[in-house]
Amino acid sequence: MKKSFYVIIILLLALSSARAEEDLFAKARKRMVEADLKGRDITDPAVLSVMGKVPRQLFVARELQKSAYNDHPLPIAEGQTISQPYIVALMTQVLKLKPTEKVLEIGTGSGYQAAVLAEITDKVYTIEIRKPLAEEASVRLKELGYKDVKIKNADGYFGWEEYAPFDAIIVTAAANHIPPPLIKQLKDGGRLIIPLGSTTYYQTLTLVTKIKGDDLRVEHITSVAFVPMTGEVQKKR
Ligand code: SAH
Repeated sequence: MKKSFYVIIILLLALSSARAEEDLFAKARKRMVEADLKGRDITDPAVLSVMGKVPRQLFVARELQKSAYNDHPLPIAEGQTISQPYIVALMTQVLKLKPTEKVLEIGTGSGYQAAVLAEITDKVYTIEIRKPLAEEASVRLKELGYKDVKIKNADGYFGWEEYAPFDAIIVTAAANHIPPPLIKQLKDGGRLIIPLGSTTYYQTLTLVTKIKGDDLRVEHITSVAFVPMTGEVQKKR
């Protein structure tokens, strides 16, 4: 009798501490949306709502969780990084993704950006070149309920022919040129966002809109620093 009493007390304490931790993350997420997103130029209500929803702390290692909502990128496994929340929001905002549209991500990493996209549309395809990251993200996304996200371990340079064409493509690794297969797999009226430029220094976040066929509109959004895209892209130019 006495023993079970203590067990119940310990369980209640553990529950309340888990709850307190959740509250802290929710508070930090709210601050991030208000100060770092709304406080800058993130105005799309859908993007703000999604960024206020996805539990970013569950995409990083336990010891980094307390920094999950800070205004900077965070390391993930394999020497890669998860972008600053503002950059995730900005890239999502410029894509102007509609709930009926199909989107391809190159560079799954932790799966955080894929989860953000999956809150907007259930047609999310994502490619990761590093097998351990692809496997980890696949498990994580399933556990968190993002069951419709399709992940492939491959070089994203070649896109994902099987599911092409896409309404939007988001490349989350830096490249010195746009992989031609990605332009090809974009629908007319489709948008592609990519950090373009030197892969050892800064890049320009570049938005490409495929007006029709080879007719492209190119817009420069802002300066960014991403980890390099590897594989085929490094053999060309
Ligand atoms: N979007 C991720 C962060 C991306 S970091 C997130 O939300 O966590 C960039 C990722 O791109 C890394 O995981 C890296 O392994 C991957 N990458 C680099 N080159 C690639 C390529 N050619 N194809 C697919 N993924 C690539």
